[in-house]
Amino acid sequence: MSDASAQSAQAAVESADQAARSPHQRLMASGHERPEGDRCPICFDLIELPVGPHSKFNVCCMKRVCDGCILAAYRRGMNGLCEFCRTPFTNDNASKLAMIQKRVSKGDAEAISHLGDKNYNGELGLTKDVSRAIELWTEAAELGSLDAHYQLGLMYCTARVSRKTNQGASAIGSRPQ
Ligand SMILES: [Zn+2]
Ligand SMILES: [Zn+2]
Repeated sequence: MSDASAQSAQAAVESADQAARSPHQRLMASGHERPEGDRCPICFDLIELPVGPHSKFNVCCMKRVCDGCILAAYRRGMNGLCEFCRTPFTNDNASKLAMIQKRVSKGDAEAISHLGDKNYNGELGLTKDVSRAIELWTEAAELGSLDAHYQLGLMYCTARVSRKTNQGASAIGSRPQ
């Protein structure tokens, strides 16, 4: 059998298999691709799961860099600088907040979502403000932030979003019953 006919036979088997599945099975088998945001912006490799412990998020550029690129930068003597944008790191909360707010002012969806996280947790000197966090996540979700969609979904799931005001519902499309 030639390569082309072998491929078409394989495709026919796959499409028959797909058709045989129930809508439920098709739904549960879809959407498992890793999002583009899970790629390191330096080496373009997917960051190992779970993403958090295998990477570092830098607020200067809102980029998540993989451990491999952090190690490579360290070996090149690039200490104390963001591996992606080379901004000096800071431990000062006010400076970190200013960096985030600068990107928020430019409409960066990830920065807006991240500021929502900080408001929710009361970090970087902010007062804990769940309502403000939901406002920010709603804005970020409308701009396409996956993290913000996740946070809003979680808020609905745990009933921390007021169902009376329906806050954030437009951003996540529909509301669970
Ligand atoms: Zn990398
Ligand atoms: Zn940076």
